[in-house]
Amino acid sequence: MTDNPASARIGVYPGTFDPITLGHADIIRRGAKLVDRLIIGVTTNPSKNPMFTPDERMAMVGREVADMGIENVEVVGFNALLMKFARKQNANVILRGLRAVADFEYEYQMAGMNQQLDPEIETVFLMADVSLQPIASKLVKEIALFGGDIAKFVSPSVRDDVIARIAQRGQLGDY
Ligand code: ADP
Repeated sequence: MTDNPASARIGVYPGTFDPITLGHADIIRRGAKLVDRLIIGVTTNPSKNPMFTPDERMAMVGREVADMGIENVEVVGFNALLMKFARKQNANVILRGLRAVADFEYEYQMAGMNQQLDPEIETVFLMADVSLQPIASKLVKEIALFGGDIAKFVSPSVRDDVIARIAQRGQLGDY
Protein backbone atom coordinates (compact mmCIF):
# COMPACT_ATOMS: atom_id res chain seq x y z
CA MET A 1 0.00 0.00 0.00
CA THR A 2 1.66 3.23 -1.05
CA ASP A 3 -1.07 5.88 -0.95
CA ASN A 4 -1.83 7.31 2.45
CA PRO A 5 -5.02 9.25 2.84
CA ALA A 6 -4.37 12.24 5.11
CA SER A 7 -6.57 10.68 7.77
CA ALA A 8 -4.69 7.36 7.84
CA ARG A 9 -3.16 6.46 11.19
CA ILE A 10 0.38 5.35 10.68
CA GLY A 11 2.43 3.84 13.47
CA VAL A 12 6.13 3.13 13.68
CA TYR A 13 7.33 0.39 16.01
CA PRO A 14 11.12 0.71 16.21
CA GLY A 15 13.61 -1.76 17.62
CA THR A 16 16.63 -3.92 17.07
CA PHE A 17 14.72 -7.20 16.88
CA ASP A 18 17.89 -9.26 17.34
CA PRO A 19 16.02 -11.57 17.10
CA ILE A 20 12.26 -10.94 17.09
CA THR A 21 10.71 -12.62 20.15
CA LEU A 22 7.17 -13.64 21.07
CA GLY A 23 7.09 -10.43 23.16
CA HIS A 24 7.77 -8.28 20.08
CA ALA A 25 5.23 -10.32 18.08
CA ASP A 26 2.56 -9.69 20.70
CA ILE A 27 3.24 -5.94 20.62
CA ILE A 28 3.02 -6.03 16.80
CA ARG A 29 -0.31 -7.88 16.96
CA ARG A 30 -1.73 -5.35 19.43
CA GLY A 31 -0.24 -2.35 17.65
CA ALA A 32 -1.52 -3.37 14.23
CA LYS A 33 -5.08 -3.14 15.58
CA LEU A 34 -4.59 0.47 16.64
CA VAL A 35 -3.38 1.94 13.36
CA ASP A 36 -4.16 1.68 9.65
CA ARG A 37 -0.56 0.91 8.81
CA LEU A 38 2.15 -0.28 11.13
CA ILE A 39 5.74 0.16 10.03
CA ILE A 40 8.22 -1.94 11.91
CA GLY A 41 11.46 0.03 11.91
CA VAL A 42 14.41 -2.31 12.20
CA THR A 43 17.48 -0.37 13.23
CA THR A 44 20.51 -1.09 11.11
CA ASN A 45 22.86 0.70 13.52
CA PRO A 46 25.78 -1.70 13.98
CA SER A 47 26.85 -0.32 17.38
CA LYS A 48 24.85 -2.94 19.26
CA ASN A 49 26.96 -5.77 17.79
CA PRO A 50 23.95 -7.86 16.83
CA MET A 51 23.82 -11.61 16.28
CA PHE A 52 21.93 -11.14 13.00
CA THR A 53 22.58 -8.69 10.17
CA PRO A 54 19.98 -6.02 9.42
CA ASP A 55 18.79 -7.97 6.36
CA GLU A 56 18.45 -11.14 8.42
CA ARG A 57 16.56 -9.33 11.19
CA MET A 58 14.23 -7.70 8.69
CA ALA A 59 13.61 -11.03 6.97
CA MET A 60 12.87 -12.70 10.30
CA VAL A 61 10.42 -9.95 11.29
CA GLY A 62 8.77 -10.14 7.85
CA ARG A 63 8.40 -13.90 8.12
CA GLU A 64 6.85 -13.69 11.62
CA VAL A 65 4.39 -11.03 10.49
CA ALA A 66 3.41 -13.16 7.47
CA ASP A 67 2.99 -16.21 9.74
CA MET A 68 0.71 -14.18 12.02
CA GLY A 69 -1.37 -13.27 8.98
CA ILE A 70 -1.33 -9.54 9.73
CA GLU A 71 -1.72 -7.52 6.56
CA ASN A 72 -1.30 -3.87 7.53
CA VAL A 73 2.31 -4.27 8.61
CA GLU A 74 5.49 -3.39 6.70
CA VAL A 75 9.11 -3.89 7.68
CA VAL A 76 11.56 -1.07 6.93
CA GLY A 77 15.22 -0.74 7.93
CA PHE A 78 16.49 2.57 9.27
CA ASN A 79 19.71 4.12 10.44
CA ALA A 80 18.69 7.63 11.41
CA LEU A 81 17.18 9.64 14.18
CA LEU A 82 13.91 7.87 15.03
CA MET A 83 11.80 11.03 14.77
CA LYS A 84 13.23 11.80 11.32
CA PHE A 85 12.46 8.26 10.19
CA ALA A 86 8.94 8.50 11.65
CA ARG A 87 8.33 11.84 9.94
CA LYS A 88 9.56 10.42 6.61
CA GLN A 89 7.06 7.58 6.99
CA ASN A 90 4.28 10.12 7.72
CA ALA A 91 3.74 8.47 11.10
CA ASN A 92 1.38 9.94 13.70
CA VAL A 93 2.46 7.60 16.43
CA ILE A 94 5.50 5.74 17.74
CA LEU A 95 4.70 2.45 19.44
CA ARG A 96 6.94 1.07 22.15
CA GLY A 97 6.54 -1.97 24.34
CA LEU A 98 6.90 -1.61 28.08
CA ARG A 99 8.11 -4.50 30.10
CA ALA A 100 9.14 -4.12 33.71
CA VAL A 101 9.89 -1.02 35.71
CA ALA A 102 13.41 -1.32 34.32
CA ASP A 103 12.21 -0.19 30.87
CA PHE A 104 10.29 2.72 32.26
CA GLU A 105 13.00 5.23 33.03
CA TYR A 106 14.71 4.94 29.64
CA GLU A 107 11.44 4.92 27.72
CA TYR A 108 10.12 7.87 29.71
CA GLN A 109 13.21 9.90 28.95
CA MET A 110 13.22 8.95 25.25
CA ALA A 111 9.53 9.75 24.85
CA GLY A 112 10.04 13.11 26.56
CA MET A 113 12.93 14.07 24.31
CA ASN A 114 11.20 12.79 21.19
CA GLN A 115 8.17 14.89 22.10
CA GLN A 116 10.40 17.94 21.99
CA LEU A 117 12.00 16.90 18.72
CA ASP A 118 8.60 16.43 17.06
CA PRO A 119 5.51 17.44 19.08
CA GLU A 120 3.21 16.18 16.30
CA ILE A 121 4.10 12.54 16.87
CA GLU A 122 2.83 10.81 20.00
CA THR A 123 4.56 7.90 21.72
CA VAL A 124 2.19 5.17 22.84
CA PHE A 125 3.22 2.36 25.17
CA LEU A 126 1.78 -1.11 24.95
CA MET A 127 2.13 -4.04 27.29
CA ALA A 128 2.57 -7.55 26.03
CA ASP A 129 0.61 -10.45 27.48
CA VAL A 130 1.75 -11.00 31.08
CA SER A 131 3.37 -14.33 30.19
CA LEU A 132 5.49 -12.66 27.51
CA GLN A 133 6.59 -9.59 29.42
CA PRO A 134 9.87 -10.91 30.79
CA ILE A 135 11.17 -11.84 27.34
CA ALA A 136 14.17 -9.87 26.05
CA SER A 137 16.21 -10.65 22.94
CA LYS A 138 19.43 -10.27 24.90
CA LEU A 139 18.42 -12.96 27.39
CA VAL A 140 17.14 -15.25 24.63
CA LYS A 141 20.62 -15.14 23.08
CA GLU A 142 22.33 -15.74 26.40
CA ILE A 143 20.12 -18.70 27.22
CA ALA A 144 20.69 -20.21 23.77
CA LEU A 145 24.46 -19.66 23.98
CA PHE A 146 24.53 -21.68 27.16
CA GLY A 147 22.44 -24.46 25.64
CA GLY A 148 19.10 -23.57 27.24
CA ASP A 149 15.79 -24.11 25.48
CA ILE A 150 14.36 -20.89 24.03
CA ALA A 151 11.17 -22.47 22.64
CA LYS A 152 8.95 -20.54 25.05
CA PHE A 153 10.39 -17.17 24.00
CA VAL A 154 10.63 -17.23 20.20
CA SER A 155 8.86 -18.92 17.29
CA PRO A 156 10.15 -22.32 16.08
CA SER A 157 11.78 -20.75 13.01
CA VAL A 158 13.56 -18.04 15.02
CA ARG A 159 14.70 -20.73 17.44
CA ASP A 160 16.21 -22.67 14.52
CA ASP A 161 17.91 -19.50 13.24
CA VAL A 162 19.44 -18.73 16.64
CA ILE A 163 20.66 -22.28 17.13
CA ALA A 164 22.11 -22.36 13.59
CA ARG A 165 23.92 -19.05 14.14
CA ILE A 166 25.44 -20.25 17.38
CA ALA A 167 26.51 -23.53 15.76
CA GLN A 168 28.03 -21.58 12.88
CA ARG A 169 30.08 -19.33 15.14
CA GLY A 170 31.16 -22.36 17.12
CA GLN A 171 31.51 -20.82 20.54
CA LEU A 172 30.36 -18.15 22.90
CA GLY A 173 30.44 -14.84 21.13
CA ASP A 174 30.03 -11.29 22.24
CA TYR A 175 26.56 -10.31 21.12
P1 ADP B 1 15.18 -5.75 23.24
O1 ADP B 1 15.05 -4.66 24.28
O2 ADP B 1 14.52 -7.03 23.62
O3 ADP B 1 16.54 -5.90 22.65
P2 ADP B 1 14.25 -4.12 21.02
O4 ADP B 1 15.24 -3.03 21.03
O5 ADP B 1 14.16 -4.86 19.73
O6 ADP B 1 14.31 -5.27 22.06
O7 ADP B 1 12.84 -3.55 21.49
C1 ADP B 1 11.91 -2.92 20.69
C2 ADP B 1 10.73 -2.52 21.53
O8 ADP B 1 10.03 -3.70 21.93
C3 ADP B 1 11.05 -1.77 22.81
O9 ADP B 1 10.03 -0.82 23.02
C4 ADP B 1 10.98 -2.85 23.86
O10 ADP B 1 10.67 -2.31 25.12
C5 ADP B 1 9.84 -3.68 23.32
N1 ADP B 1 9.85 -5.05 23.82
C6 ADP B 1 10.81 -5.98 23.66
N2 ADP B 1 10.47 -7.13 24.29
C7 ADP B 1 9.25 -6.91 24.86
C8 ADP B 1 8.36 -7.69 25.67
N3 ADP B 1 8.66 -8.94 26.04
N4 ADP B 1 7.20 -7.13 26.07
C9 ADP B 1 6.91 -5.85 25.75
N5 ADP B 1 7.70 -5.06 25.00
C10 ADP B 1 8.86 -5.57 24.56
